[in-house]
Amino acid sequence: MKSFPWGHQRRFNAYSNYFKKQFGQRIQKLSVNAGFTCPNRDGTVARGGCTYCNNEAFSPSYCVAGSSVTEQLQKGIDFHKDRYNASRFLAYFQNFSNTYASLDELKRIYDEALRFPEVEGLVIGTRPDVIDEEKLAYFAELSKRKYVIVEYGIESCYDQTLDRINRGHSFEQTKKAIEQTAAYGVKTGGHLMFGLPGETKQMMLDEVDILNNLPLNNIKFHQLQIMKDTIMAREYKENPDHFRFFELDEYIDFVIDVTERLNPAFVIERFSGEAPPRHTLSPRWGLRTPDVMNLIEQRMVDRDTWQGKYFKKS
Ligand code: SF4
Repeated sequence: MKSFPWGHQRRFNAYSNYFKKQFGQRIQKLSVNAGFTCPNRDGTVARGGCTYCNNEAFSPSYCVAGSSVTEQLQKGIDFHKDRYNASRFLAYFQNFSNTYASLDELKRIYDEALRFPEVEGLVIGTRPDVIDEEKLAYFAELSKRKYVIVEYGIESCYDQTLDRINRGHSFEQTKKAIEQTAAYGVKTGGHLMFGLPGETKQMMLDEVDILNNLPLNNIKFHQLQIMKDTIMAREYKENPDHFRFFELDEYIDFVIDVTERLNPAFVIERFSGEAPPRHTLSPRWGLRTPDVMNLIEQRMVDRDTWQGKYFKKS
């Protein structure tokens, strides 16, 4: 049996094991839509948003803007307690940009979530251009008593890609936000998309070396999926040859290549994403996310490889 630095037998530093170790039991994430908007949609940075953005595609049904944070969490807690016997939770603020409000408003929302004794902490998804020292000082304070992680949509390390998908910020801004967050002692997460137009496999692999030098705690990988009713959906219909999607088998090997180069200290939260079929336009693999994960883990065994096998510290 091999032994890995993360202290279990899985071949990557897996999120579920990390949480079991951290909290002594399984933790369930509950998505909450707190009604935030996004500066890349309301005209502050740009209008129209990122070309692939369709927030609806990633929201569970109990997570409805308009009902309060308390109502949404209560529903989510009741549902997961009944169905899965879950007892500890993280409030996951996923929709839009969850630091895009005044500090007072953020305190009102996040303090409301943390009033639930079952809620162990917050996962706060946001953009790198809507964070500042005041907000980070608040999250740092919360971090002393609760689990808090700020997750940034990195998506790509290349400015030409970020321009092409209308992210409205540069990679330098992403880097700075992650470094600043970590400097405040707040955990950081990153989200990277594979298959964005204009990027080759080698470019995507090279991103790993860039990310390895950032103070990230967690990372999520997604294959590109095109959602209906997005700018990218229109681009795809007009020029399908500008897009190339990973076949499942090809993706499994590719994401393992990525993982082999990845800093073993980074906790991997996901290798792939899955939007509901009614929202997707791009070809689907026909498998659920846990099934894809199982295939990836089996392929790691077959290849006798693991996270960080070829990690080079620089
Ligand atoms: S930053 Fe997020 S919410 Fe805003 S447009 Fe882009 S993907 Fe959508």
